[in-house]
Amino acid sequence: MQRPVLHHVEDWKKPALIVFDLDFTLWPFRVDKSAKSPFSVSKKGNVIDVRGRVFKTFPEVSQLLMTLTSNGYNLAVASRIKDIPGAYQLLQLFGIMQYFQYKEIYPSVKTVHFYQLRRKTGIEFDRMIFFDDDRRNVRDVSRLGVTRSQAHIKHCSHHKIVSILSYVMPEKFACTKIQKAYEI
Ligand SMILES: [Mg+2]
Repeated sequence: MQRPVLHHVEDWKKPALIVFDLDFTLWPFRVDKSAKSPFSVSKKGNVIDVRGRVFKTFPEVSQLLMTLTSNGYNLAVASRIKDIPGAYQLLQLFGIMQYFQYKEIYPSVKTVHFYQLRRKTGIEFDRMIFFDDDRRNVRDVSRLGVTRSQAHIKHCSHHKIVSILSYVMPEKFACTKIQKAYEI
């Protein structure tokens, strides 16, 4: 069943912090299940694990993060990956580490990550936007927002990630199907 999760763009105020999950949000695999760290760069320039398997981000991710950063948005990671060194290594090798001022990567209920982000940034939940493929995480974080501060913490699935640009910067990336794009 599809369910709209966004308010109309006109209701939206610019987010002070944009938070991304990692597995199946920025890259199409699960670090703890599909890969075995440490990672390295092959002679062909691919990011590989110890077994030589090649890993990539979703193709639009670097451009997306670069565009958001260059437009003044603060970005953060909130991930429950257990292989913490592996996750950091991938961020580095994929060339996207520098886009994230804050990184909360450890196995825990995702609300813990968000409390830490609020503590470190001083940004309230209702100024954060959240992208995650996992309904459980989305549910937990959304509840946190609702119970704590009527938060407008949003989410989407990975294949809609390019629509983030349309959403956070509608003046630059006009999209007439924003509501549709963010249905899950
Ligand atoms: Mg995920």
